[in-house]
Amino acid sequence: MKPAPFIRHAPKTLDEALRLLAIYAPQDGRVLAGGQSLVPIMAFRLAKPAHLVDINDVAGLNEVMTDGKVLSIGACVRHAAFHKPVVDNPLAKLLSEVARHIAHYPIRMRGTFCGSLAHADPASEWCLVAATLEATMVARNTHGERLIAAADFFEGIMATALKEDELLVEARLPLLARDAKFGFNEFNRRAGDFAMAAALATYRLQGGKIVEARVGIGGAEARPRRIAQAEAALDGQAPGDKVFRAAAEAAASSIDPLEDYQTTAEYRRDLVRAVVRRALEQSGT
Ligand SMILES: Cc1cc2nc3c(=O)[nH]c(=O)nc-3n(C[C@H](O)[C@H](O)[C@H](O)COP(=O)(O)OP(=O)(O)OC[C@H]3O[C@@H](n4cnc5c(N)ncnc54)[C@H](O)[C@@H]3O)c2cc1C
Repeated sequence: MKPAPFIRHAPKTLDEALRLLAIYAPQDGRVLAGGQSLVPIMAFRLAKPAHLVDINDVAGLNEVMTDGKVLSIGACVRHAAFHKPVVDNPLAKLLSEVARHIAHYPIRMRGTFCGSLAHADPASEWCLVAATLEATMVARNTHGERLIAAADFFEGIMATALKEDELLVEARLPLLARDAKFGFNEFNRRAGDFAMAAALATYRLQGGKIVEARVGIGGAEARPRRIAQAEAALDGQAPGDKVFRAAAEAAASSIDPLEDYQTTAEYRRDLVRAVVRRALEQSGT
């Protein structure tokens, strides 16, 4: 099928893009970033936006920057920008490790980090990273700018706190401590598919004991989130098989799993148990 008719607007500046969104968002207008989610949905006529505000030519949205505390990722930064570490910090290694699990190479060359956050597929790897590391989203419209914490940003399956006329101009991720350890694991039936469950874990070691543990789960519930019970099972413990399994068990029993025609809740719970354990095992290598 072909998309329903639409008008494409191609602003060159952020102000122009925001003005266009103010006009057209209430008339069923949408932002077009990498188009890797929106265009297929339009082709199937699951979405029929009358106007697209294409942000690809907007100056200044294509940058990854750091001030030494956070990594700022502009609205048009592609997934592929993270194939190689973007800064000298463990966060950059984490992003490289995660990036290669997103879809396939051609999709990573077009799809954007912020587009993934705005689309808010529960199985999105970047949404999991943002939730686990507590990213801050920078949203703008013609009235100004507001900062949204990841915990408030993801509201459910493909639902976010963004208003219809707001552009997600930037996502900010805190840099990790130099000695931070991390592990990521996801399960899908074929490489490149969306994850049926994914886990990201980070922590530091102090005197051989885990501190500042973060365990995030994606793909298993309606939105990605940190799992406090799994983090509590790690904090203050020496890393090792027994502790990692206890954290995995805590995560599996704390979630409210999504079900679909292929996947029962119990199967997803099993997957969560496996991906958390594997992410933690990877963190030690
Ligand atoms: C075959 C296939 C496999 C895929 N596999 C994966 C996968 O494994 N993991 C994964 O995470 N993704 C996967 N994707 C999706 C891909 O990563 C998309 O690139 C991503 O979800 C959306 O980014 P985009 O820049 O393409 O956004 P678009 O498709 O342009 O937009 C998506 C939605 O977000 C809105 N939007 C985009 N940018 C902004 C912004 N800055 N501010 C406000 N709203 C905005 C749009 O209006 C639209 O509603 C896959 C896609 C395909 C086609």
